[in-house]
Amino acid sequence: MTDIQINIKNKTYPTAAKPTIANLKLSLNSEEFICLVGPSGCGKTTLLNIIAGLDNDYDGEILVGQQHTHPKIGYVFQNPRLLPWRTVRENIELVLDGPVDVVDALLEVMQLAQSQHAYPERLSLGMSRRVSIIRAFAVDPEVLLMDEPFVSLDAPTARQVRELLVKLWQQRPHTVLFVTHDLREAIALADRLIFLSAAPMQVVSEIVVPISRSERHSELAIESFRQQLLQNHPEIKQLL
Ligand code: ADP
Ligand code: MG
Repeated sequence: MTDIQINIKNKTYPTAAKPTIANLKLSLNSEEFICLVGPSGCGKTTLLNIIAGLDNDYDGEILVGQQHTHPKIGYVFQNPRLLPWRTVRENIELVLDGPVDVVDALLEVMQLAQSQHAYPERLSLGMSRRVSIIRAFAVDPEVLLMDEPFVSLDAPTARQVRELLVKLWQQRPHTVLFVTHDLREAIALADRLIFLSAAPMQVVSEIVVPISRSERHSELAIESFRQQLLQNHPEIKQLL
């Protein structure tokens, strides 16, 4: 796997009076789980779309290793975007052009093997989220982009899907860029937190999460790190 450098000098929407992103630099280490935390409307989705190559109207560069190119991505959107006329398995296989044996292993880890022939309308929201995570992992991306994927789940379901995501990521390490505005969620997931300012979006702080993966099952460990973080980095408070 390769490190990725993102340098966006300027992104201004044609209809906007000022830049949405200005002089934003991010380095993604291979197989690192990064959470991006920033206020609503600061440009997080815009950034993911640029990295994905869905938006090419910007000034800047993206380097994958030494190459000026876009990384191969898996994208988990806020809405799971499953095709209603395809089964769970078919929705996943649709993105693959090679062998499909990987799908069985992914369904197993995400506890969806029993539901692989069900249609999306039969799935709970938590199950649909798990399908869209599998679909993103299945392509073996260089970066997995996740845009507030657990936003409308109730707390116990969000926690379950988060734990399954981490289990999958530990079995199949990938570079992940996960957007959230929930600091507890970010601490539960990330190797490194990147805090972003309101538009024009810039990096305010980068903080490595020192809690071991096994300790993160404890709500108490997460909450105490959150308190400590807010105390030591007052600049973060206004971004939440
Ligand atoms: P976030 O994901 O952090 O909530 P977005 O990237 O969706 O923020 O939006 C950042 C800013 O860019 C917002 O002010 C939004 O209104 C604006 N914006 C987003 N998409 C477009 C667009 N297609 N055209 C014009 N302005 C847009
Ligand atoms: Mg967004």
